[in-house]
Amino acid sequence: MSWQVGNVRIHKVVEIEMKSGVTWILPDATREALAREPWLVPHFADRDGRALMSVHTFVIEADGRRILVDTCVGNDKKRPIPGWDRRSGPFLDDLAAAGFPAESIDGVLCTHLHVDHVGWNTRLEGGRWVPTFPRARYLFHRREFDYWRAEEDPMFADVFGDSVQPVFDAGLVDLVEADHRIGDCVALEPTPGHTPGHVSVRIRSGGQEAVITGDLMHHPVQCAHPDWASSADVDADQARKTRHEFIRSCADAPVLVLGTHFAGPSAGHIVRRGQSHQFQAATDAA
Ligand SMILES: [Zn+2]
Repeated sequence: MSWQVGNVRIHKVVEIEMKSGVTWILPDATREALAREPWLVPHFADRDGRALMSVHTFVIEADGRRILVDTCVGNDKKRPIPGWDRRSGPFLDDLAAAGFPAESIDGVLCTHLHVDHVGWNTRLEGGRWVPTFPRARYLFHRREFDYWRAEEDPMFADVFGDSVQPVFDAGLVDLVEADHRIGDCVALEPTPGHTPGHVSVRIRSGGQEAVITGDLMHHPVQCAHPDWASSADVDADQARKTRHEFIRSCADAPVLVLGTHFAGPSAGHIVRRGQSHQFQAATDAA
């Protein structure tokens, strides 16, 4: 699946599709609550109010470069999360089949350093974690990197140890600021709250505009309920503020919103509906 934004092309490659609901990450998004939002069906919830979600990467092709945004869960990693533990999925083959063999990637950008955004930074080779994308510069927001480097809780320290530290040790990391630009068309922008150094990715080309959310939202239902916080938010109040601002700035604007965990079509537009907002999938747009 891919989208054209001016001269930039953005592709999605899926690692995991989840059909088991979202209350583990969005406690307010119960089946009863989702059933009250019929506009979510069929792309983002089923008729029984079960939410659909996805773990995927976006590949941006811009100015002759290939930049991977977020690297999913990865293979062989010991994780305390069912379905994410010691995976052996075909993600790298799927990425290559989409036209992007690992050696062809020029840049890797993680919106934040959570487990499902850094996994494929590394892969297991001869019992060691080695960079999956050997030619790439890995871009991390400096504040995000410093925050997780200091974290001692093993749940996070293990992720940093197997998926961030090895690429840093290999000399492949550039620590950047929250407004860092990549070429003429791609720029980071700060969207803190979910994590302290969380960034989104703005793409502007040929008068067109798109934005990759990262985890400032986990599910399109949050367009209607921006106050629904994620159980993984480091600062839920800041995340709510960021979400309100983001929705206000995108509402009824010609900005293609690409949701980092949005299932199915994944991209679309935030539209005003009375006092509230909805997410209109790009495939449904008139
Ligand atoms: Zn995530």
